[in-house]
Amino acid sequence: MHLSRFPRVHLAHLPTPLEPMKRLSGELGIDLWIKRDDCTGMSTGGNKTRKLEFLMGEALEHGADMVMTQGATQSNHARQTAAFAAKLGLTCHILLEDRTGYNYANYKGNGNVLLDHLHGATTESFPGGHDMVGEMERAAEKKRAEGHNVYIIPGGGSNPTGALGYVNCALELVAQANDAGLKIDRVVHATGSSGTQAGLVTGLCAMNAGIPVLGIGTRAPQQKQEQMVHDLACKTAEKLGCTGVVRREDVLANTDYVGEGYGLPTDSGIEAIRLFAELEGILLDPVYSAKGAAGLIELARKGTFKGERVVFLHTGGSAGLFGYDFAFDHADRWINL
Ligand SMILES: *Cc1c(COP(=O)(O)O)cnc(C)c1O
Repeated sequence: MHLSRFPRVHLAHLPTPLEPMKRLSGELGIDLWIKRDDCTGMSTGGNKTRKLEFLMGEALEHGADMVMTQGATQSNHARQTAAFAAKLGLTCHILLEDRTGYNYANYKGNGNVLLDHLHGATTESFPGGHDMVGEMERAAEKKRAEGHNVYIIPGGGSNPTGALGYVNCALELVAQANDAGLKIDRVVHATGSSGTQAGLVTGLCAMNAGIPVLGIGTRAPQQKQEQMVHDLACKTAEKLGCTGVVRREDVLANTDYVGEGYGLPTDSGIEAIRLFAELEGILLDPVYSAKGAAGLIELARKGTFKGERVVFLHTGGSAGLFGYDFAFDHADRWINL
């Protein structure tokens, strides 16, 4: 794989650290490591930054002066896109879909939304279930009619171009493991719009690394999630010139930890946030990484990963905590000595 054949803006802080989580390993009885993609450096970091290196590369190649994307109200992808656009001097407009119905002031205006605006992006809001793809086309046409050269980035940055960012992560992870003499048995991470898992699986399969990836779902049911990931992995492999390298059985998702729906915190996710924060000093987010970690924790407790060295890919999102403060009860942490 020769990723420098593709346009790319090198702005992520790479390689991200690969670190042991000793206290959490003790708690769960497995050898647990973490790949810190929450530390990619773009406005509190996260997984979208790797994708945006390639997406923004393509935007610049097309001569774009404006980028548009869409996501949920507390979208981490929107925030990283806004920051990346600011750095490159591109105008950024974001369409936000209210997928939760929450009316909390912090949900609507703090966390990622605050950061979108601080980076100079404009946002507009739509009710849940709206045709966001159609809406983005309409918005882009309007801006094109005004003379802008608009580059559209799909939700989550998940297309074959964005997935190249996670092919790159696969290369990076295996190189780190090789250098450290570390045999990795499995990678676990939160999966959503599918670009992260599709890129990772494509990269790992193309290298014949023999490292299975388990995506923990945050939205879609299992069959749909796996199909989405596999479809995108196939297209990504084609783009790379290694068509057919990802088999359907290479794509594994567990969607038992979604809870009531996308963006709605779960008890097991909140427990995962507390465990990571209290045992490892690491912040997760309630929408994605907490659900991914909840799956990891429960499956580890059930013995699914017995004897394995597991790498949890931390996809970021902690800025979302400030939009979800209502989900945490921490009054008992105020005490008088
Ligand atoms: C977007 C996101 C994911 C999911 O990644 P996909 O590539 O959309 O599957 C996971 N974690 C966080 C924090 C995210 O923002």
